[in-house]
Amino acid sequence: MSSDNTQLVDRDLAVLWHPCSQMKDYESLPMIPIRRGQGPWLEDFDGKRYLDAISSWWVNLFGHANPVINRAIRDQLESLEHVILAGFTHEPVVRLSEELVALSPPGLTRCFYADNGSSAVEVAIKMSFHFWRNQGHSRKTRFVTLGNSYHGETLGALAVGDVELYKEIYRPLLMDTLMVPSPDCFHREQGESWEAYSRRQFAHMEQCLQQHGDEICAVIVEPLVQCAGNMRMYHPIYLSLLREACNRHGVHLIADEIAVGFGRTGTLFACEQAGITPDFMCLSKGLTGGYLPLSVVLTTDPIYAAFYDDYDTLKAFLHSHSYTGNPLGCTAALATLEIFRSRDVLGRNAELARHMAASVADLQDHPHVGEIRQHGMILAIEMVRDRAGREPFPWQQRRGLEVYRHGLDQGVLLRPLGNVVYFMPPYVIEETEIDLMARVAAEGIDLATGLKTAV
Ligand code: PMP
Repeated sequence: MSSDNTQLVDRDLAVLWHPCSQMKDYESLPMIPIRRGQGPWLEDFDGKRYLDAISSWWVNLFGHANPVINRAIRDQLESLEHVILAGFTHEPVVRLSEELVALSPPGLTRCFYADNGSSAVEVAIKMSFHFWRNQGHSRKTRFVTLGNSYHGETLGALAVGDVELYKEIYRPLLMDTLMVPSPDCFHREQGESWEAYSRRQFAHMEQCLQQHGDEICAVIVEPLVQCAGNMRMYHPIYLSLLREACNRHGVHLIADEIAVGFGRTGTLFACEQAGITPDFMCLSKGLTGGYLPLSVVLTTDPIYAAFYDDYDTLKAFLHSHSYTGNPLGCTAALATLEIFRSRDVLGRNAELARHMAASVADLQDHPHVGEIRQHGMILAIEMVRDRAGREPFPWQQRRGLEVYRHGLDQGVLLRPLGNVVYFMPPYVIEETEIDLMARVAAEGIDLATGLKTAV
């Protein structure tokens, strides 16, 4: 590593504590200081480049240092960087809300802002609970969540998720939820279609709603892809059935589109593939094109109306964050939506998605690949010890870490989730870059599964 790289790492290790990291790991796998980004590429202080195959934690849509978004933020900076959103407003937040309402599934008419994904989930949970209180349904205190789901790291968001690794230690601090088995199609029977399996798994949800409907505020789901839960996927039919059942049982539906929103699954929002409108839709990550922390919860007129009353009825939703609706964040979001308008992003993504599928087709028969699955611009390759029985490699072996190391060595930022190698690149990626990403992933999988050894 160059002296500039090393110096920054040393200074970092003296004062920082990094997210989602065992800090001791940095003894054997140094972090990478990044000097600049350009399109889908990141560059370190040595001038070594890394293809950002994971959109920097699924946030970046149109590349790093995107000229359209850069310009918009620079302009906004000259007039207003921030203002309190209680009692005040500003043009970027009004325009953004108008545009989001116009683009979202019909019926979502109100925008409530926060500043990160977990906070948006907290807002949706609290709003749902509070709605039922305002309506006189004080028995409704519980939330239904899917096995293998993930909704963030704050205590409320963690409680409605199910990734053991992040959740287990904090369990004594968390509210109790009703957990229903996931429609995750990795577990379907041989020869069973995604649709048939998703339908079959819905029986658990129906039973839960039937048994507990009068105690339940809402069901929360990640539409189509359980991203942090190893990019496990399911069929849109599950969402259609869920919408209908929630209506029947008087329960809200919260769609957490924080990771899958803004075109990742092929449509602007994943819910569109099921033709449904949730009662709450949470957005963040790609909302600002990956530039600034901002999140929003969209909801419906009837829910908004249940909070609208004289102050002394104490029905108001008094939740707030200091940076709620930050003008720079809203401006980045408006520029992001402008890019969607000015180009056929989803059409181009469909081509890129086909190219991604073709680029890994050779891995279909790999002895340690249990499944290759894809929803639009999210593609995942599941490494298994035994292909026939889909037996997993023990997590302690950290096979994914081998792929990560190989990727960095070869200039591709892959960040496997356990034994699952996945691609979720910025939409400005080119076909040749997809080929590079796929080749490096395939080599990494060979190395990690012991099919080849490093030379
Ligand atoms: N929900 C989903 C589906 C997510 O993938 C994430 C982040 N990975 C979150 C919520 C939490 O968002 P944040 O990290 O901004 O708190």
